[in-house]
Amino acid sequence: MTMVLSIISAKGGVGKTTTTANIAAALAKRQCVVTAVDGNVTTPNLSIHLGCALYPVTLHDVLAGRAKIEEAIYRHPAGFHVVPASLSVDDLYAVEPSRLSDAVRALTSRPGLILVDGAAGLGREARAAMDCADSLLIVTNPDMPAVTDALKAVKLAQRLGKPIVGIVINRAGAHKHEMSAKEISDMLEVPVFATIPEDKSVPASIAAHMPVVVMKPRSRSARAFNKLAATMCGEAEPEAGIFSSLLGILGR
Ligand code: ADP
Ligand code: MG
Repeated sequence: MTMVLSIISAKGGVGKTTTTANIAAALAKRQCVVTAVDGNVTTPNLSIHLGCALYPVTLHDVLAGRAKIEEAIYRHPAGFHVVPASLSVDDLYAVEPSRLSDAVRALTSRPGLILVDGAAGLGREARAAMDCADSLLIVTNPDMPAVTDALKAVKLAQRLGKPIVGIVINRAGAHKHEMSAKEISDMLEVPVFATIPEDKSVPASIAAHMPVVVMKPRSRSARAFNKLAATMCGEAEPEAGIFSSLLGILGR
């Protein structure tokens, strides 16, 4: 049994890629089978976070019809599989983002969870990450501009009939005037699934091309990502709401 979970936000820079990489690594530590796909076709950076930017066959080769998706799957040292995108400018506009859905759905013959790191905005690329998903996880920062954009993502998801697992509030505690979890869930009308604190270990881990849950497992952000993964596995309660849709497919 397979499930496609896309990580989206509308606003850029809130932590979608960080969340994708760390959920993948934290679930892999729990012996779950996970494949992380860089669904960000024009500005990909999952491969930068994970140190697989120069791998020979990429998602772009698949989208361009030059390769099969199986040829673009690599095993990351952190224990999960990754489908990197190309960083070449020549590749960026040579592909049609709407093909992402077919490429990702082709992976559903594999077991486990498929995580798609979505693009920012609500244009065709971001929409492609929603279209291919069974469920969505929405990442926001606790500030009004990010939450306002997250609200647009929630509305679009509802129009598309895509279930939202919950909200991940990332970079909590960074600023004095930030919104509370209750204010965010009231505004979005979606439960807060997890809160990840602001933590300088995150940029350090990105510089080292290794998810923080592997590089600094005792850091505050790593503990929060591990708790998020435990929640997905049914080993911990979500901060709010009911979460059972991943149980069963994450069976180890
Ligand atoms: P997105 O994919 O939404 O554009 P990223 O995951 O690339 O966002 O994160 C953007 C930047 O924010 C990263 O360079 C990272 O250093 C920083 N960042 C993300 N999460 C945290 C965190 N919890 N604490 C500190 N910095 C963070
Ligand atoms: Mg990103």
